[in-house]
Amino acid sequence: MSGKNLVESDRNPDNAVLRQVVPAGEPWMGEVRKGQTLRILDLEGNQAADTLFYSLADPQGEKYSAIDTVRGQGNVYLTTGSQLRSNEGNVMLTITADTCGRHDTLGGACSAESNQMRYALDKKPMHSCRDNYLHAIQECGYGLTKRDIVHNINFFMNVPLTPEGGLTFEDGISAPGKYVEMRAEMDVIVLVSNCPQLNNPCNAYNPTPIEMIVWD
Ligand SMILES: [Zn+2]
Repeated sequence: MSGKNLVESDRNPDNAVLRQVVPAGEPWMGEVRKGQTLRILDLEGNQAADTLFYSLADPQGEKYSAIDTVRGQGNVYLTTGSQLRSNEGNVMLTITADTCGRHDTLGGACSAESNQMRYALDKKPMHSCRDNYLHAIQECGYGLTKRDIVHNINFFMNVPLTPEGGLTFEDGISAPGKYVEMRAEMDVIVLVSNCPQLNNPCNAYNPTPIEMIVWD
């Protein structure tokens, strides 16, 4: 992680066209138009915002792609300057400010299955990001199905690669008031699960609210 990635924004939330708090553990879905800027604000710190993007013009055909994003920038972490690419190789959004410094592309979203595999048999019914996604898309009207739930970004989540190439879920590096800001390069649908996970330190074992802020 490098200090040069830490870039503050001079945008004023009072001038935003949308401000919406996402309660701890809940999903959020909304549209951000080309040229608008989206900020995801970690209100209380150490939260994980599991996020997917879809092209508004063709939600089932074009969506965020971790593979194209990582290959395009030659780095597995996201920060200021990162271009979030689609499965068609197009830039969907560009990160323009980041006061956290690093965001995960590899860890994926928690699910009933991962809760059971990683933690214990009796953790399977616990609230998970995948269930949040499924719940959100069945009400959204964009025609998305579970096949459209692809590998997501974990904003604010600290999943360092070990020297051996493994992944570890570490205590968050975010803090109250940290944010990441991105400019939409096409009209997009944003699907977020404000991670309800209670079994690992990605949320400091304490899910908290985040805020979505959009400017023209
Ligand atoms: Zn989760």
